[in-house]
Amino acid sequence: MQIKTILNRVQKHSSFVYVDMRFIDGDAVELEIVIRPRVGSRATCSLCGKRGSTYDTLASRRFQFIPLWGILVFFVYAMRRVDCSRCGVKVEQVPWAEGKSPITTSYAWFLSGWAKRMSWKEVAEAFRTSWDNVSRAVGLAVAWGLHHRDLGGIEAIGVDEVLWHRGHKYLTVVYQIDGHCRRLLWVGKERTTETLETFFRGFGFCRAFRLVYLCSDMWKPYLNVIAQRAPGALHILDRYHIVAKLNKAIDEVRAEEAKRMTQDGYEPILKNSRWPLLKNPKNLTDRQSEKLSDLLQYNLKTIRAYLLKEEFQLLWEYVSPAWAGKFLDRWCTKVMRSRIEPMKKMARTIRSHRELILNWFEAEGTISAGIVEGLNNKLKVTFRRAYGYKYFKTTETALYHTLGRLPEPEFAHRFF
Ligand SMILES: [Zn+2]
Repeated sequence: MQIKTILNRVQKHSSFVYVDMRFIDGDAVELEIVIRPRVGSRATCSLCGKRGSTYDTLASRRFQFIPLWGILVFFVYAMRRVDCSRCGVKVEQVPWAEGKSPITTSYAWFLSGWAKRMSWKEVAEAFRTSWDNVSRAVGLAVAWGLHHRDLGGIEAIGVDEVLWHRGHKYLTVVYQIDGHCRRLLWVGKERTTETLETFFRGFGFCRAFRLVYLCSDMWKPYLNVIAQRAPGALHILDRYHIVAKLNKAIDEVRAEEAKRMTQDGYEPILKNSRWPLLKNPKNLTDRQSEKLSDLLQYNLKTIRAYLLKEEFQLLWEYVSPAWAGKFLDRWCTKVMRSRIEPMKKMARTIRSHRELILNWFEAEGTISAGIVEGLNNKLKVTFRRAYGYKYFKTTETALYHTLGRLPEPEFAHRFF
């Protein structure tokens, strides 16, 4: 059997023929497959898609195809320029590659498929291609996916800020958090009013109007934009962010108290107490549990703050918003009398966001706690894999690729 027969089986083009194959010996064995237009066929204008007569022919170009048995495979073809009646002289459109891409579309889908399972660097090494080609391949898959994705029927979204660039910069991410579909919808630079405005402009007025639930943290610029752009949605403050803020307050109390105790020459009982105090008691190791029960015997500010946090967690057991509200008010009053400044600050924050916090109970458990947190964890895995993508464009592409649940054309799986 000839290679031509195999090629015509896997990738046949009606207006082009595989005419010649040759081995190129170098560091790696390469197979070049020469393509020519079928006799009598006319070139397609890359701008309007109409066929026209050939103006001239450019020098041969190589397009990398899927490697075979450890051999790198390239299509070689001399592009024609079309004398298009509408557009003038334009380079032709070929069915195996897009625009100026040095890789074939089949190879791009093949690489992007692997790039969901491995880092881009690993894909480049495994298939002996460049990181740039992998990046290009993923970019192509993402562009196709974004163009073909369905944004209908979105009822619940979550907005969050994530640290990026080794923790020096912020990105704003918007997720769809409906029960049937959880995915990344959008990612933007920074976490300003303008960032979120950009999302809503792209998302569209009608879609924003149809949102039923919207989940976010307490970041002021977000709150303002959400109130304006999605007035019909029930705005819920994410439970995980509230607990994270409480933990931060406790950590502040602990650090300050530990420092003071050392200065005053007391026994360092707060040493190694950070995780026992911050972790969910259910997730403590035996040693951490022991440390915690030991600590609880002391009358320390840190311990009082810890007990206030534990008491706060009872809030989530409530079903009725009214009773939850009463509980919240009592808790805040108690904290305000505690004379623990970081906790008092937290109580003030909770008071000023009271309504949004209670919306959690209005949603009656439709939005599961920690859903945004779960998506954020997946996002961090993507960051880690990529050695902290330096450029926003690359980061954006990688995130859509791994978290966007983007559609793919049917043929994408022919080679993967
Ligand atoms: Zn044209």
